[in-house]
Amino acid sequence: MTTSRIKRCDHCNCVYTYHPSTYGFMPEYNDPHHCSECLKVIEAALKNVPVKFKKKWVETSDYTREQIIDAQNVRMSDGSPTMLNALRLPVRRVMPGLFSLDGTSSSQNVCEMMSDPVSKTMIYYSVTWWPKKPDEVEIKKEVFWDVENNVVAKNQEDYRN
Ligand SMILES: [Zn+2]
Repeated sequence: MTTSRIKRCDHCNCVYTYHPSTYGFMPEYNDPHHCSECLKVIEAALKNVPVKFKKKWVETSDYTREQIIDAQNVRMSDGSPTMLNALRLPVRRVMPGLFSLDGTSSSQNVCEMMSDPVSKTMIYYSVTWWPKKPDEVEIKKEVFWDVENNVVAKNQEDYRN
Protein backbone atom coordinates (compact mmCIF):
# COMPACT_ATOMS: atom_id res chain seq x y z
CA MET A 1 0.00 0.00 0.00
CA THR A 2 1.38 3.41 -0.97
CA THR A 3 1.06 5.67 2.02
CA SER A 4 3.09 8.74 1.10
CA ARG A 5 2.97 11.58 -1.40
CA ILE A 6 5.46 14.28 -2.35
CA LYS A 7 3.95 17.71 -1.72
CA ARG A 8 5.07 21.34 -1.82
CA CYS A 9 4.33 23.36 1.32
CA ASP A 10 1.72 26.10 0.80
CA HIS A 11 3.73 28.48 2.96
CA CYS A 12 7.51 27.94 2.69
CA ASN A 13 7.42 26.08 -0.69
CA CYS A 14 9.75 23.34 0.42
CA VAL A 15 9.11 19.80 -0.83
CA TYR A 16 8.06 17.32 1.80
CA THR A 17 6.52 13.87 2.18
CA TYR A 18 2.87 13.70 3.19
CA HIS A 19 1.40 10.47 4.58
CA PRO A 20 -2.32 10.46 3.67
CA SER A 21 -3.08 7.07 5.16
CA THR A 22 -3.27 6.32 8.83
CA TYR A 23 -2.06 2.82 7.97
CA GLY A 24 1.38 2.17 9.37
CA PHE A 25 3.93 4.94 9.97
CA MET A 26 2.44 8.29 10.95
CA PRO A 27 4.65 11.29 11.64
CA GLU A 28 3.58 13.72 14.37
CA TYR A 29 3.16 16.72 12.05
CA ASN A 30 1.46 15.38 8.93
CA ASP A 31 -0.63 17.62 6.69
CA PRO A 32 -1.60 17.77 2.98
CA HIS A 33 -0.91 21.53 2.78
CA HIS A 34 2.01 22.32 5.08
CA CYS A 35 5.40 20.82 5.80
CA SER A 36 6.08 19.57 9.32
CA GLU A 37 8.04 22.71 10.29
CA CYS A 38 5.25 25.07 9.22
CA LEU A 39 2.53 22.83 10.63
CA LYS A 40 4.26 22.79 14.00
CA VAL A 41 4.17 26.62 14.08
CA ILE A 42 0.54 26.73 12.87
CA GLU A 43 -0.63 24.22 15.47
CA ALA A 44 1.21 26.04 18.24
CA ALA A 45 -0.42 29.33 17.23
CA LEU A 46 -3.88 27.81 16.92
CA LYS A 47 -3.67 26.34 20.42
CA ASN A 48 -4.54 29.84 21.63
CA VAL A 49 -7.72 29.94 19.54
CA PRO A 50 -10.52 27.95 21.15
CA VAL A 51 -12.45 25.52 18.97
CA LYS A 52 -16.02 26.84 18.73
CA PHE A 53 -17.75 23.90 17.06
CA LYS A 54 -17.03 20.23 16.72
CA LYS A 55 -18.82 17.09 15.61
CA LYS A 56 -20.29 15.10 18.45
CA TRP A 57 -22.47 12.00 18.90
CA VAL A 58 -25.47 12.76 21.11
CA GLU A 59 -28.22 10.47 22.32
CA THR A 60 -31.50 10.77 20.47
CA SER A 61 -34.97 9.31 20.24
CA ASP A 62 -35.54 10.49 16.65
CA TYR A 63 -35.57 6.89 15.41
CA THR A 64 -35.77 3.40 16.84
CA ARG A 65 -33.22 0.64 16.26
CA GLU A 66 -35.65 -1.03 13.86
CA GLN A 67 -36.12 2.16 11.83
CA ILE A 68 -32.35 2.63 11.46
CA ILE A 69 -31.83 -1.01 10.45
CA ASP A 70 -34.77 -0.80 8.03
CA ALA A 71 -33.38 2.36 6.47
CA GLN A 72 -30.06 0.64 5.86
CA ASN A 73 -31.70 -2.49 4.47
CA VAL A 74 -33.84 -0.40 2.12
CA ARG A 75 -30.82 1.56 0.90
CA MET A 76 -28.79 -1.62 0.40
CA SER A 77 -31.59 -3.10 -1.70
CA ASP A 78 -32.62 -1.84 -5.12
CA GLY A 79 -35.88 -0.17 -4.15
CA SER A 80 -34.48 2.75 -2.21
CA PRO A 81 -35.52 6.30 -2.98
CA THR A 82 -32.43 7.75 -1.32
CA MET A 83 -29.74 9.54 -3.24
CA LEU A 84 -27.00 7.19 -2.07
CA ASN A 85 -28.79 4.25 -3.57
CA ALA A 86 -29.48 6.18 -6.76
CA LEU A 87 -25.72 6.27 -7.11
CA ARG A 88 -25.73 2.54 -6.34
CA LEU A 89 -23.01 2.88 -3.78
CA PRO A 90 -23.07 -0.01 -1.33
CA VAL A 91 -21.92 2.31 1.43
CA ARG A 92 -21.84 1.11 4.97
CA ARG A 93 -20.28 3.27 7.61
CA VAL A 94 -18.59 0.91 10.02
CA MET A 95 -18.30 1.87 13.64
CA PRO A 96 -15.70 0.23 15.85
CA GLY A 97 -17.23 -2.69 17.71
CA LEU A 98 -17.14 -2.82 21.46
CA PHE A 99 -16.16 -5.98 23.25
CA SER A 100 -17.49 -7.24 26.53
CA LEU A 101 -15.08 -7.48 29.43
CA ASP A 102 -15.21 -11.28 29.42
CA GLY A 103 -14.38 -11.27 25.72
CA THR A 104 -17.24 -13.55 24.77
CA SER A 105 -19.44 -11.17 22.83
CA SER A 106 -19.22 -7.93 20.91
CA SER A 107 -21.75 -5.19 20.40
CA GLN A 108 -23.83 -4.89 17.27
CA ASN A 109 -23.83 -1.56 15.50
CA VAL A 110 -25.61 -0.09 12.52
CA CYS A 111 -24.83 3.40 11.27
CA GLU A 112 -26.95 5.03 8.61
CA MET A 113 -27.56 8.47 7.12
CA MET A 114 -31.12 9.57 7.84
CA SER A 115 -33.09 12.78 7.82
CA ASP A 116 -32.78 14.82 11.00
CA PRO A 117 -36.36 15.88 11.93
CA VAL A 118 -35.04 19.18 13.34
CA SER A 119 -32.63 20.39 10.66
CA LYS A 120 -34.16 18.39 7.77
CA THR A 121 -30.64 17.45 6.69
CA MET A 122 -29.18 13.97 6.21
CA ILE A 123 -26.97 13.08 9.16
CA TYR A 124 -25.50 9.91 10.63
CA TYR A 125 -27.54 7.92 13.12
CA SER A 126 -25.93 5.07 15.01
CA VAL A 127 -27.56 2.29 16.99
CA THR A 128 -25.55 0.01 19.28
CA TRP A 129 -26.76 -2.93 21.31
CA TRP A 130 -25.48 -6.07 22.95
CA PRO A 131 -26.88 -9.40 21.78
CA LYS A 132 -27.12 -10.62 25.39
CA LYS A 133 -29.07 -7.51 26.42
CA PRO A 134 -31.30 -6.76 23.42
CA ASP A 135 -33.37 -4.23 25.33
CA GLU A 136 -30.39 -1.98 26.11
CA VAL A 137 -30.15 0.05 22.94
CA GLU A 138 -28.01 3.14 22.50
CA ILE A 139 -29.17 5.44 19.70
CA LYS A 140 -27.07 8.46 18.79
CA LYS A 141 -26.86 11.04 16.05
CA GLU A 142 -23.86 13.02 14.87
CA VAL A 143 -24.41 16.74 15.29
CA PHE A 144 -22.34 19.89 15.32
CA TRP A 145 -21.77 20.86 18.92
CA ASP A 146 -21.49 24.46 20.12
CA VAL A 147 -18.43 24.16 22.39
CA GLU A 148 -18.72 27.66 23.90
CA ASN A 149 -22.34 27.23 24.99
CA ASN A 150 -22.12 23.45 25.51
CA VAL A 151 -25.27 22.74 23.48
CA VAL A 152 -26.20 21.35 20.07
CA ALA A 153 -25.31 24.07 17.57
CA LYS A 154 -28.18 26.01 16.03
CA ASN A 155 -28.69 25.90 12.28
CA GLN A 156 -27.18 22.45 11.75
CA GLU A 157 -27.72 22.75 7.99
CA ASP A 158 -25.17 25.58 7.86
CA TYR A 159 -22.40 23.11 8.70
CA ARG A 160 -23.14 20.69 5.88
CA ASN A 161 -21.39 22.64 3.14
ZN1 LIG B 1 6.56 24.82 5.09
